[in-house]
Amino acid sequence: MDARSGLVLSVRQVTATFGGDRPVLCEVSFDLPAGAILGVAGEPGSGRTTLARVLTGDVDDFTGRLTLRPRDGGPEITLRAGTPRPSRAERLAAASPRVLDATDPVLTPRQRHADVLVIDDAPAASLTALARLRDRHGCAIVVTCTDPAALRGVADEVAVLYGGRIVEHGRAEDVYAGPHHPHTIDLFAGGSPGEGRPADAPGCPYRTRCAYRMGICDDLDPALDLVTVGSGGTTMTACLQYDRAVPDPALSAASGQAAGQQGYASPRDDVQPRK
Ligand code: SF4
Repeated sequence: MDARSGLVLSVRQVTATFGGDRPVLCEVSFDLPAGAILGVAGEPGSGRTTLARVLTGDVDDFTGRLTLRPRDGGPEITLRAGTPRPSRAERLAAASPRVLDATDPVLTPRQRHADVLVIDDAPAASLTALARLRDRHGCAIVVTCTDPAALRGVADEVAVLYGGRIVEHGRAEDVYAGPHHPHTIDLFAGGSPGEGRPADAPGCPYRTRCAYRMGICDDLDPALDLVTVGSGGTTMTACLQYDRAVPDPALSAASGQAAGQQGYASPRDDVQPRK
């Protein structure tokens, strides 16, 4: 069986620059299983709203591609910038966070038939209604919010954005059991939101805020890759503390940010948070 047959949406290498000196979104890739809830968390300026707008067609100035596999078995649709969206692709639909407030929300026909609902900037208090919405309409959901901790118990998968990049992505149970990326750890610890502006290249974009910064972090930009730590859970993580011991062919190839880098201990036992 095709391991990808259960996917409703694949996002590959989506980058949006809008003519600026740095991307607002940078090589964002992920797969969304049918009926799953993906929580995308990030500070203001992390790119989460731009991602939501790319998904729903509000932003058409991007590179990369989206592949929609309709749950009714209809033909696969590949969406790129500049190509008109066929009507079936309208089933990748935006919804206001207000739909989470009502016990019986009134959805538009397009929202009711969506394969994927995209809800941007949902308040933490409303996130518990996501499962009800998903179960009622049978759709997958991409929801963005500021606080990843608020997605606990409601999201099936969690992605954390920083500076337009996914810095950690995994099954929610793995992310919550052991967040790997220092930014995820900071957000879980309730760290105050920063300006969201990544450090300039070269080096890791998070290095100016990272409590685990090493010398090599000033020179290498870590790729998003599968790492295993602690109790054996795995997440896709962009941090030089960890091994890249279990490559994921799809997402590793898609991330491609630092191909050819060597692995590091998992995590490095010489790396401790600075006091
Ligand atoms: S690569 Fe270095 S600076 Fe970047 S998140 Fe990891 S430890 Fe911190």
